[in-house]
Amino acid sequence: MTLKFLLLLFIFLAAWAGWRYFDLRRAVNALTKQIERGEELSVVCSQLQELVSAVRAERSDYKAQLTDCETQRSRLSAILDQLTDGVLIADAEGRIHFANPAAHRLFGKSLLGHSVAEAIRHHSLIEAWWRCRESGELQTETAEMPLSRHFLQLVVAPDCDVSGGTLLLAQDLTRIRRLETIRRDFISNLSHELRTPLASLKALTNTLQDGALSDPEAGPRFLSRIHTEVDALAQMAQEMLDLSKIESGQVKLELRAVTPCKLLSSAAERMGQQVKRAGLSLQIDCPSHLPTVQADALRVEQVLINLIHNAVKFTQPGGEVTLLAEAGQGEVRFGVQDTGMGIPADELPRIFERFYRVDKSRTSGGGTGLGLSISRHLVELHGGRIWAESVEGKGSTFYFTLPVLNG
Ligand code: ADP
Repeated sequence: MTLKFLLLLFIFLAAWAGWRYFDLRRAVNALTKQIERGEELSVVCSQLQELVSAVRAERSDYKAQLTDCETQRSRLSAILDQLTDGVLIADAEGRIHFANPAAHRLFGKSLLGHSVAEAIRHHSLIEAWWRCRESGELQTETAEMPLSRHFLQLVVAPDCDVSGGTLLLAQDLTRIRRLETIRRDFISNLSHELRTPLASLKALTNTLQDGALSDPEAGPRFLSRIHTEVDALAQMAQEMLDLSKIESGQVKLELRAVTPCKLLSSAAERMGQQVKRAGLSLQIDCPSHLPTVQADALRVEQVLINLIHNAVKFTQPGGEVTLLAEAGQGEVRFGVQDTGMGIPADELPRIFERFYRVDKSRTSGGGTGLGLSISRHLVELHGGRIWAESVEGKGSTFYFTLPVLNG
C-alpha cells in the first residue's frame, strides 16, 4: 500500500515537472522571438531615422532653391514690367506667348496668341524676324510705325531654350530721333542766321580798314553799327541757348499760385521805361476777381516781356500797348495788344516757328525770330496755349492761357 502510494506520488510529481518544463520553454521561445523582433525594429528604426533626416535635408534644400527661384522670377518680372523697351517671346510657330507692358504700349493690347507679323505690323521689322529665324543669327532693324509715328529699333535673337523660338526687343527711339532732328535743324538755322550779321560785320570792318576809321563822320557811325550787330549776335546766342534748353527738356518750372494781375503789373514795371522811350502808352486791363493761376512767375514774365518787346518794336510812336487778363473755362486768358503795323493773315500761322520773321526789313532794331518760339514753348510747358490775332495796319493781340489753380 505504501509502495503503491509512493509510486502514485512519483508519477504525479513527474507529470507536474514535465508540464512546467514545457510551459517555460514556450515562454523562452516567445521571449527569444520578441528579442529577435526587437532587434530588427531597432535597425529599421535607425534606418528610418536616417531616411527622415535625409528627406528633411533634401526638403529644406529644395525649399531654399524654390525661394531662390521665386525671388529671381519676381525680380525678372519686375524688371520686365519696368523696362521701357518692349519684350516679346515667340514660339517655333511664331506665336507670341509673352509680352511685357512696354510691348503692349508699342504694339497694342492683344498680342498673346497672335503671330509676330500681326503684332509688329511693319514689313521691314517682320523681315528682320524672318531673317533671324532662317539664319539663327541676331538681327537689328529700325522703322517708323505708320500709325503711331513711333520710331522703333527691333532686335531679334534666337531663343536658345526653344528650337525655332525667337526673342524680340523693341526700343522706342522717337525721343532720341526728335532731339537729333532738333539739333540738326538748329545747326542749319544757326549757320543760316549767322551768315547775315557776320557778312555785315566783315563789310563794316573792311570799310573801316580801308580808311573810314580816320573819317570823323563815317568812323563812329560804322563802329556804332558794329556794336549793334554784336549786340544782336549776343542776343541770338542767349535766345538759342534758352530755346535749346527748353526743347531738350532741361527747363523745369517752379509752379506756384500767382494772381494774374500781379504777373501783368510786374512785367509792365520792367518794360515801363522802354515803352515810354518808344513814345507809347501802356495800360493794364485786369479785373481784380480773377482766379489764381498755377505758374512759374519768372517764366510767365519772360513771355510777357517778349510780347511787350514785340509790341514796342512794331508800333509807331503815339500808339498804345494794353496788357489784359480775363477768366476762361478753367484757365485765365492773358493778352498783349498793340496798335501797331499788324501781321498779314497768311503769315500769322508761321510766326511761332523758330527764326521766322514776317519781313526782315520791317524793324530797325532787328530781331532773332526766336522770341515767339521760346514763348510758345514756355506757355505749353505750363499746359497753356498761345496764338495771335491781327489786322494789318491796325494792330495785333497776342493771347496765351494758363491753367487756374485746382481748376
Ligand atoms: P523777333 O521779334 O526777334 O523777330 P519773334 O519770334 O518775337 O522774333 O517774332 C517773330 C516775328 O513775328 C517778328 O519778326 C515779326 O515779324 C512778327 N511779330 C511779332 N510780334 C509782332 C507784333 N506785335 N506786331 C507785328 N509783328 C509782330
